[in-house]
Order: sequence, then C-alpha cells, then structure tokens
Amino acid sequence: MLFKRGCMNKEIILTGDRPTGPLHLGHFVGSLQSRVRLQESHKQFVMIADVQALTDNYDNPQKVRDNVLEVALDYLAVGIDPSKTTIFIQSCLPQIPELTLYYLNLVTMNRLKHNPTVKLEIRQKGFGDSVTAGFMTYPVSQAADITAFKASIVPVGEDQKPMIEQTNEIVRNFNRIYKKPVLVECKAVVPTFSRLPGIDGGGKMSKSLNNAIFLKDDENVLKKKVKKMYTDPNHLRVEDPGQVEGNPVFTYLDAFGSDRGKIQDLKDHYQRGGLGDSIVKNYLFEVLNEFLEPIRKRREQFAKDPKEVFQILKKGTEIAYEKAEKTLDEVKSVMCLKY
Ligand code: ATP
Ligand code: MG
Repeated sequence: MLFKRGCMNKEIILTGDRPTGPLHLGHFVGSLQSRVRLQESHKQFVMIADVQALTDNYDNPQKVRDNVLEVALDYLAVGIDPSKTTIFIQSCLPQIPELTLYYLNLVTMNRLKHNPTVKLEIRQKGFGDSVTAGFMTYPVSQAADITAFKASIVPVGEDQKPMIEQTNEIVRNFNRIYKKPVLVECKAVVPTFSRLPGIDGGGKMSKSLNNAIFLKDDENVLKKKVKKMYTDPNHLRVEDPGQVEGNPVFTYLDAFGSDRGKIQDLKDHYQRGGLGDSIVKNYLFEVLNEFLEPIRKRREQFAKDPKEVFQILKKGTEIAYEKAEKTLDEVKSVMCLKY
C-alpha cells in the first residue's frame, strides 16, 4: 500500500509535564524514555503544561515561566526530537480553555469533588475549603488537552488514571448529547517500571520532596547526592549482611546500569556481608555519571541558545494550534455555535 509521507494512520499520543522545576531521574524512567521510543512509531504531542502549573502556582508565575525553558531543555537533552514529536506550550492554545468551558457543562460538581486524585492532592497541599475552582476543575482542563488532539493514548502514572476516566466520561457525554462522534476516547498507558524512589529512600523521587537527582545535576552535585543516599539502615558494619530489596542504591543500579553480571555480583556480595556501602555507591556514581554525561552535554549545547529553543517551541505550538483549532471547529459545529 502506498502512503503519502506524513499521512500514515499513526495513533496519537498526548503527554506532557507541568513546568514547576527541572526534570529528574524519576521522570526519565516514568515517562521520558518511553517518549523517545514512541516518537518513532506514533504521532506524539508533548505539552508543557504551564496553565495547569498555574492552578497551584498562580501566585508565582515567574517560576512557571522560568521552568518552561528548563523542561524544554530536558526534553531536547534526553532525545525528544522536535522533527518527530510536537512540543508545545499549553497557554498558547486558546482552544483548550474554550473546550474546557464547554465540557464543564457535562460534568457535575459532585463528580469533581469525588475525583480521588484531586481529593488526595487537596489534602496533601493543605488547601481544605479554600481550594480554588481552577484547581477543582483541572481534570476537565486535562480532558480538553487530550481531546483537542483526539489522542487515543495517554501515558500516565497510576495516580492519573481517574483523569482518564473523567476524560472518557466527558467524551461519551459529548458524543451522545451532540449526536456525533466528534471526540475520541483514550486509554491510559501506565509505565511498567513503577515509581523510582528518592535518594532518601522515603517515597518516590519528587522535586518537592528534595530527594531528586536532576538530569541537569553536574558531576559534583551528583557525587554529593549519591554519597548521602539512604541504603540499608541495618547494614552498620562492612561485614554485616545487607538488604538489597527496597535499597534505592540497588534500585538505581537496576534502572540505569547495563552490566547485569557485575550488578548481580554486587548484590550477592552485599547480601552475604563484607561489602561496604561506599563501594556500591562509588559504582552507582560511575553508572549514573555515564548515563547523565551525554544528556548534560546536549543540554548545555541547547542552553547556549535559548532563542533557538523557543523557536522550536513556537514551531511545535503552530502545529498543535492547527490541530486543536480543527477539533474546536467540529465541536462548535455540533454545538450549534457556528455563526
Ligand atoms: P511535584 O513535586 O511538583 O509533584 P514531581 O517531581 O513529583 O513534582 P510530577 O510533576 O508530579 O513530578 O510528575 C509528573 C509525572 O512524572 C508523573 O505523573 C509520573 O508519570 C512521572 N514521575 C514523577 N516522579 C516519578 C518517579 N519518581 N518515578 C516514576 N515516574 C515519575
Ligand atoms: Mg508529584
């Protein structure tokens, strides 16, 4: 069969990040590495979600603004290729808030109040009754992000699954009420690698928990972070047998190391006793440094010319704008809003 270039029937992916800080190793295993892979086989849109970042950072717009560049640099550094992936800035697409407004009629207040992820976040962030309408309704805005591109695949963390359910409810309601299958249902794809723990061994690696190794960390910072990493608290003397499970040093070796034989030998030795934490940490430093070195180099290269980076984002945004505009046009048409 003959296809014109660019006309292949590729499934559409919508994904992205909130620009609230640079990206870390957790983001790499959780999403970045699969984006680099999927851009070869899918039509991928990656959104820098500045509007969503403002829902809980509305009082610090400069932070969001500064991190748009940081996130873009991380994307380019890990190998997200703007000639294969459309990278765009959410706030440059007015179609998204317009779709959000129409979708809000299709969602009950009760449903929003009971979204388990939003409920948890309200508790974690201590919002209580003063939670804003913007924050409460961000799942609807996410539905607009996804449907604007007619994405059928949305790679998400386990915690984001309720957002996909909410999106699909809106899609079904919309298509039923306006009697035309304009919007497309999507499916959540959850990464096989579960959460990467933080260097404190406490929970997942997260920028706000101060337990992250960032992709942009230089050699010295990396060395310091690896040195202070949590290991097995009962492994007090070198001769003591140590735990490998739940020990983040070994979790990172599994995730980023390539010499399986050596890693297995280290694990065996650690469990038997007689292997000091510092030896394992030195090896982990080498492994992570080797992994981060080319990423850092590419990042530095792009960082020299922020104008060029914004040019890339501008081009991506133009492509995204066109796609979202087409969807909005169809939406308005079935909603009798075309004048
Ligand atoms: P914040 O501290 O602001 O919550 P964060 O560092 O936890 O930031 P998020 O912006 O919450 O990062 O994460 C966005 C997405 O990145 C998640 O939905 C998930 O897919 C992925 N992700 C983040 N942290 C990890 C991690 N430690 N392991 C695997 N995936 C992660
Ligand atoms: Mg988080």
